[in-house]
Amino acid sequence: MTFSVHGQAVSRGIAIGRAVLVASSRLDVAHYFVTTEQVDAELQRLSDARDRVIEELQRMQLGLQKTEAREAHHELNALLDVHLMLLEDKQLQEGAAYWVQERHYNAEWALTSHLEQIARQFDEMEDPYLRERKSDLEQLTELQLRQLRGVPSPVAGQPPASASQDDPLVLVAHDLSPADMLQFKQSVFVGFATDVGGKTSHTAIVARSMDIPAVVGGRSASQLVQQDDWVIIDGDAGILIVNPSDTVRAEYEFRQREIMLQRGRLAHIKNTPAVTLDGERVELLANIEQPTDTVPALSVSAVGVGLFRTEFLFMGRSGKLPDEAEQYQAYRAAVEGMHGLPVTIRTVDVGADKPLDRNARDDHLNPALGQRAIRWSLSEPAMFLTQLRAILRAAAHGKVNLLFPLVAHRHEILQIKDMLAKAQQQLDLRGEVYGPVRLGAMIEVPAAALTVPMFLKHFDFLSIGTNDLIQYTLAIDRVDESVSHLYDPLHPAILQLVAGTIAECRAQGKSISVCGEMAGDPTMTRLLLGLGLRSFSMHPSQILAVKQQILRSDTRKLRTWAQAVVSSEDPAGQIAG
Ligand code: PEP
Ligand code: MG
Repeated sequence: MTFSVHGQAVSRGIAIGRAVLVASSRLDVAHYFVTTEQVDAELQRLSDARDRVIEELQRMQLGLQKTEAREAHHELNALLDVHLMLLEDKQLQEGAAYWVQERHYNAEWALTSHLEQIARQFDEMEDPYLRERKSDLEQLTELQLRQLRGVPSPVAGQPPASASQDDPLVLVAHDLSPADMLQFKQSVFVGFATDVGGKTSHTAIVARSMDIPAVVGGRSASQLVQQDDWVIIDGDAGILIVNPSDTVRAEYEFRQREIMLQRGRLAHIKNTPAVTLDGERVELLANIEQPTDTVPALSVSAVGVGLFRTEFLFMGRSGKLPDEAEQYQAYRAAVEGMHGLPVTIRTVDVGADKPLDRNARDDHLNPALGQRAIRWSLSEPAMFLTQLRAILRAAAHGKVNLLFPLVAHRHEILQIKDMLAKAQQQLDLRGEVYGPVRLGAMIEVPAAALTVPMFLKHFDFLSIGTNDLIQYTLAIDRVDESVSHLYDPLHPAILQLVAGTIAECRAQGKSISVCGEMAGDPTMTRLLLGLGLRSFSMHPSQILAVKQQILRSDTRKLRTWAQAVVSSEDPAGQIAG
């Protein structure tokens, strides 16, 4: 049956493929295809893992029988019996093997796919006893995955042999954490849909950085879609179409080809300098999440990195934070990767929708207003000093700008400066080489936007984080899909804060950039140019579309118009008209 689910359009384009349902906690298993020749070896891995779990459980049972309190362990013994029975079940074994044999999934992926499929059947069962068996299956899958981890696949580590599978795959999940998204970057999926999330949730931001179509906030999408259904992600309209008819599918395939052609046309301006019709030079910088992202940045001729979101190095590590050496290597790789172009490294911004750990629940009442970004850094001086030392050392290898997120108070600025001096002192004591850095602050809290002159006394440059500025000015949680319709970059209050910040920086001759999603939205380019912005930082995938707008703009004509838009009651109407 064909049906569609409406959500938020967060990353443009069309993806057509078979649905792969994955629970967030299981996304970190490897997802790759094995070749026809490798199928037998992969099936063997699957059955070896099962056999080892059986042995483990039998050993446990034997141990129980030897203990004095045999009686007390009666229930546990019975449970082990159930688990052993499930492991021996032919149908369950064949179910997992199907994904390897027919779809060429690697063993780990086959196990989780099978689990997602049968978990649903269990959910629908009337009998509560049988419904509870779902958690037994989950535990058994975990045990087998653990065994598989100890025995790497003969094909693990090699690039996915995706040539062996023709059907593209689309990931459908209830939620994906930003850490999941990093796994996703190396995976085989061509698009994704989630039940939760908003336009500027970090999940959506990473999707845009990968330039893959995505729909978030589809509410019950992951409940309605079945494993292996054909789905279309319409990332422009924010729609997920399930089991489309042939006509609908053909229409979308046509649109997909159109998009490819359009992208091909944009590639022609890759080496054209970003200069407006009236000769104004504009700096187009890249937002990156990991050092390897410098490759796509350079491929679209970004003239530097305007935002390196370092928190992605810190997430999903079960509390074990990266030490100075690891961070130094990562920052140095980014700096060297840009071959002498400047790199703006932002100190860690975890908290709210970017938890350190996927499974760690944030018990604070209001995480977005809580201990995140610079607040967390200042409350963890040892961690903060480690990061500052690593960044300072990387600055010996190229031009580095050091950027601090979510700063709002003067005392925070003074503390930051103290910590920086301390980090330098520590490096001096160790006789370590480090380089100079320019200091910058994000303007992403209304309090900061309203006190720009104070910020300019202490910082060399500012960067406007419109995602958070909108969240905090309009009081809407950026990840809550139920208020996402209120998320409005063109609200007069936002435009006044952005315009005021740009104007103040220009008046004082200080560098000002925008690195929030607004900078990468081509429909905003003319307005930002008209307000005097000459430095835009965005995901590499957006750079050429924004450059195209710049090449067609004359800033002399935009100035008065932009001021009129800002002071209008209905800026969206003004822009459209
Ligand atoms: C922003 O808030 O606009 C920004 C660029 O930072 P992040 O999206 O990482 O919070
Ligand atoms: Mg922010």
